[in-house]
Amino acid sequence: MIKVGIPRALLYYQYYPMWRTFFEELGAEAIVSPVTSRVMLQEGGARVVADTCLPVKIFIGHVLSLIGNCDFIFIPTIRSIRKNTYNCSKFLGLSAMTRAAVPEAPPILDIMVDVNKGRLRLYQAIYRLGKNFTPYPHKIRQASLDAWRTQLKYRYMMSNRGLTQPQAIAKVLGTSTPESQVESPETKTTIAVIGHPYLLHDDFISHRIIPRLKQANVKVLTPEMLADTTLESAVMKVMGRIQWTCESEIVGAGEHYLRSDVDGVINVMAFGCGPDSLMMDVIRRQATRLRSTPFMNLTIDEHTSEVGIITRLEAFMDMIYRKQRARVAVCG
Ligand code: SF4
Repeated sequence: MIKVGIPRALLYYQYYPMWRTFFEELGAEAIVSPVTSRVMLQEGGARVVADTCLPVKIFIGHVLSLIGNCDFIFIPTIRSIRKNTYNCSKFLGLSAMTRAAVPEAPPILDIMVDVNKGRLRLYQAIYRLGKNFTPYPHKIRQASLDAWRTQLKYRYMMSNRGLTQPQAIAKVLGTSTPESQVESPETKTTIAVIGHPYLLHDDFISHRIIPRLKQANVKVLTPEMLADTTLESAVMKVMGRIQWTCESEIVGAGEHYLRSDVDGVINVMAFGCGPDSLMMDVIRRQATRLRSTPFMNLTIDEHTSEVGIITRLEAFMDMIYRKQRARVAVCG
């Protein structure tokens, strides 16, 4: 059986169930790299220039960890999934960058996804990808339809049932929910944590911000729990137009949650990320302007210490609890 390696990084969080369904329907086996470790960061970071953003360094580390375990590595080039809206340039060059940085990697399966070029180009790209596994076009068509159905189910679980991406992946694939994602039984306080899923849900990068909040009996809301239409209209309200795909995760989710009844909003961003620095500033200004919901930004890089993150989280939560106590005292 052909083994296709999938790095557990970047777009894995948005599309893994769909990718896995596609490859399995074509008789291949999807092999996912292990969870992120310091060794992966060190090895990945050593292959790229120093100012590359942390998630891309980690992605390269995941590719290195797959060498020897698979026949191909799947690295799609997802340029645009909405008309005139584009992904960060790092995604556009990811397969080329990986080929250059990891020449010993197994052959890379690449597919260009750009809705601006029309459906026909997309279908042709899917057929080219599928032909690595079968010569029969009807099998490729069936695999892509099944994969798309899986993606719709996955998205529904998050936006309609309030699951995070790791929880929804476990549900769709019928595996057990990771322990760090189990909900806390008592929840008196609600915090929205916004940012890219590959920052929020990678416990190594985020220093387990979400599990830590849950352990403190906090209900955590994340961007993927909102419908695409809600996120898009929130971005339009603030920006007037949608330029980057990832604006939904930060500007859209930030604007929505700042105006909802959550007790606080935490934005997690990667040091060295151009889009994040602009989008975080937009949301910080919104938070200052609205003056309704406490807001904190956490910038993470490879030198960020766990103790520093815990201290910031504790200070933020203390401030929220003080505010809640003051409100109770005023209302009697
Ligand atoms: S959006 Fe930022 S963090 Fe994500 S890949 Fe691009 S530069 Fe890196």
